[in-house]
Amino acid sequence: MVAESFHEVVGAIHLHSDFSDGSLSIPEIAQIAENKNLDYLMFSDHNTLEPKRQGLEGWHGSVLVIIGCEINDPDDRNHYLAFRIDREPEKGLGAKAYVRWIREMGGFGVIAHPAEKRAFSDAYPPYPWTDWDVEGFDGIEIWNQLSEWLEGVTLRNFLWRIWHPLRSIRFPVWETLERWDQFNRSRRIVGVGGIDVHGFHIKLFGFIPVEIYPYKVQFRSIRTHLLLHKPLYTADRRPLLFEEAEKDIFEALSHGRCFISNASIGNGKGFRFWAEGKHETFIMGSRIPEQGGLVFRVRSPLSGLIRLLKDGREIQRKKGNTIDHRSEKEGVYRVEIFRKRRGWIYSNPIVVGK
Ligand SMILES: [Zn+2]
Ligand SMILES: [Zn+2]
Repeated sequence: MVAESFHEVVGAIHLHSDFSDGSLSIPEIAQIAENKNLDYLMFSDHNTLEPKRQGLEGWHGSVLVIIGCEINDPDDRNHYLAFRIDREPEKGLGAKAYVRWIREMGGFGVIAHPAEKRAFSDAYPPYPWTDWDVEGFDGIEIWNQLSEWLEGVTLRNFLWRIWHPLRSIRFPVWETLERWDQFNRSRRIVGVGGIDVHGFHIKLFGFIPVEIYPYKVQFRSIRTHLLLHKPLYTADRRPLLFEEAEKDIFEALSHGRCFISNASIGNGKGFRFWAEGKHETFIMGSRIPEQGGLVFRVRSPLSGLIRLLKDGREIQRKKGNTIDHRSEKEGVYRVEIFRKRRGWIYSNPIVVGK
């Protein structure tokens, strides 16, 4: 069945290292990820591909390290995660120009923390996406953990949030999900989760050193699960060549064969969402013509409150591990699962229609 015909790899997207404002080196971070059983990491240091030039892209133990960069415009807005490029775009470009440039270079670009609104401190202003006329981007971060943490911070809960960072992860921003559904009506925009980890070191009250969101904590949080056509290892357990493994990762991403989980409230590995037609099955990310007799199926490794949505509106809700729902109408279908009253899994959509 379709659920068994893919190889699932689990990783983290949007990481900063000591090449920009992160606190650890790429090998150190990869080691932590290996201890947490992650399969891949996608780094995006601010405006630099220097770690790639220094040869840090590739396998670090059992972790596949992919290196891109996070680009911003002259007003420090419109943060864009750019992968599969060999050099940085020219400095000073606006969002439309760098999004187009990444596309022309054959790269892969993701809009980062689009709806950031934090107003906690002047030292940490929000960096939202403002240029929505832009064309040619590939993905959107539907859940950014750092944004969520910072948005909810107040002077009263600051300490609580430092000691319990994972409890502040609740839901993606509704406005972003709505926008994402709208984009997917006309073309495929993959939704990914971003952890935006830095491992910031600060001095509390000016003298108590604390680390906000250490890497090892964030690797237990928002994960992006990809469904590949083949494993990243050969039958005799040798890792694929980096180029081949990287190609497979981006093939899954660009086809939307992925979902996002909040690992702090349950391991989402094994979740599947697909549609069955009369002769064919279609995994999440598929875009299919209207046809009679479609059945949407959800299988979850843990029970939760499952919602099947069409164009952003709930069409079925059920507690448990499965949903089977017949529908042939045109629309953008996706799944959300909640556990412990928090968002746990968000699938990429199956789109029925033109
Ligand atoms: Zn950013
Ligand atoms: Zn970032």
